[in-house]
Order: sequence, then C-alpha cells, then structure tokens
Amino acid sequence: MSPKILESNDETIFLEALSSDGTRTYDVMYDVDHHWLCTCPDYYYRKRFCKHMRACAEMLNIKDTIVYEEVRT
Ligand SMILES: [Zn+2]
Repeated sequence: MSPKILESNDETIFLEALSSDGTRTYDVMYDVDHHWLCTCPDYYYRKRFCKHMRACAEMLNIKDTIVYEEVRT
C-alpha cells in the first residue's frame, strides 16, 4: 500500500505510511534541509533510512536517502 500525503508545502512534506503488518501507521516527514524523519522504531533507535521513508521516496521520486540526526550536545 502506498503512503499517503497528509500535507505539503514548499519546504516540507508530511506523509503517513502503513507498517508492514498493516496494524499501524507511521508519520514520515521530508524536507530538503533536514532530510527524512519517521516515527517508527527503526528510525528512532537506529537512525536508519527505513522502509517507510523508502516507500515515500519512491512514490515522490526523491533520490535523497539521508536521515535527520539530532545534534547531540
Ligand atoms: Zn519508518
């Protein structure tokens, strides 16, 4: 199932992607400055370019695969 665009403006795109077992959705966000963010554990704990991001990137034809990393102080 394809991700769904919830909202988009000139800078940021907000999407909703379904988990692989179909039981829940994750929020995915993309913008050019911060790159990809997702609310799933794969991104949250491992800072991976997760499958939800991948699905969104494929749908939007975005080649960027960099994930946002918080600046740790
Ligand atoms: Zn994800």
